Amino acid sequence: MSVVFIGDEISTKQNGDQLANFYHCKACNELLAVGCNINGQFRGAINSNLLQDVNQLGNPIKIQPRLLSAEEKLERWSNLWGALTGL
Ligand SMILES: [Zn+2]
Repeated sequence: MSVVFIGDEISTKQNGDQLANFYHCKACNELLAVGCNINGQFRGAINSNLLQDVNQLGNPIKIQPRLLSAEEKLERWSNLWGALTGL
């Protein structure tokens, strides 16, 4: 899947353990995507609530990221997240 972010009014915030960046629309503060550098590649996930055809995606996976260590998070993200460009 490829997603193009239109416009350049995006703010970047980091999560509690400074691992990932959260990208928000500056106009409405909607979360657009989350991403971080994993083994030299910029990887991430987009906010599926913003997609028109969200029903074409698989079922959501429930997670409790607070229970994961930083290493476990990176391991998990490297398995789930795709390449992220345009941010
Ligand atoms: Zn917006």
